[in-house]
Amino acid sequence: RSPEVLEAVDVVLGGSESRYTVEVVLPGPVRRELQATAAGLPEPVAEQAVGLLVLHDLTEVRRMEQMRADFVANASHELKTPLATLTGFIETLQGPASDDPDARARFLPIMHEQAARMSRLIDDLLSLSRIELAEASRPTDPVDVAEVLERVRKAVALNADQQGITLDVRVADGLPVVPGDPDQVAQVFQNLVDNAIKYGGAGSTVTVTADMAAAPPVGRQPHLRDGAVVVSITDEGEGIPREHLPRLTERFYRVDKARSRSLGGTGLGLAIVKHILTRHRGALEIESAEGEGSTFTVYLPVATAAGQGTEEP
Ligand code: ADP
Repeated sequence: RSPEVLEAVDVVLGGSESRYTVEVVLPGPVRRELQATAAGLPEPVAEQAVGLLVLHDLTEVRRMEQMRADFVANASHELKTPLATLTGFIETLQGPASDDPDARARFLPIMHEQAARMSRLIDDLLSLSRIELAEASRPTDPVDVAEVLERVRKAVALNADQQGITLDVRVADGLPVVPGDPDQVAQVFQNLVDNAIKYGGAGSTVTVTADMAAAPPVGRQPHLRDGAVVVSITDEGEGIPREHLPRLTERFYRVDKARSRSLGGTGLGLAIVKHILTRHRGALEIESAEGEGSTFTVYLPVATAAGQGTEEP
């Protein structure tokens, strides 16, 4: 029924062209973009066929192109904002405020914070691209989750203390090691605990539990069926409205942009978590009740005789 495709077929069967390509958008609930190429056959073949119509589904390719373009636009915008602030202050200090020590004392900390923000953003962008490049190869070093959580607890302790947040870490005894990259697994927990502290609110408790998964999460990675270590990070913050949950791991997606920025967020933390877990053949689940808090649950498959050290195609 597509006029474009019918035209391609007509052109080829009419003999004016031997091959004709059109691009078609099929609207509907699931929009599809197709490339259709019609070609005439030099002589009829089986069942009197006189032509060939080849359909290529370009939907996924186009979606990736769009995502790439959006990503570059977002990253540039995120860098441009602190840069504009810095440039503004530098110009002021060079010009009207050149002899004003008070202004200098006020501006320098802001300039320092803006430079730190750019540097965090660049660090996160670089980590993300490093992880993505290696995503196909599953890391196989033995990772002791209890040890990694202890490392993360020490790293965030001061920050938690300053925010008046109690960290309650409960790790089950005798957890098996999981195959992975210890630094990346630490980054997953660090990002999630950092968020729980950031969005948890002063005076609240952040609870981290680690255990064997009682049952594999439904419809998840097949690797998790042979057993998984499950780590949950729960905060008592405002929670996340339901409609945002599916998009939280997208790069630069934030529920409240201004709030995230004022807390020093880059909008990349959960994207990094997702990519590391994909590389580890693990999974992330997010549950949240508005006004009550959020729980981020990480599943990491345990080593199995068949799974350890082998690469999937
Ligand atoms: P950010 O640097 O903005 O924190 P993330 O990728 O880590 O970026 O998180 C994306 C968004 O998800 C955050 O901006 C915030 O809106 C939401 N979010 C993440 N963790 C929590 C949490 N524990 N409680 C409430 N909202 C959260």
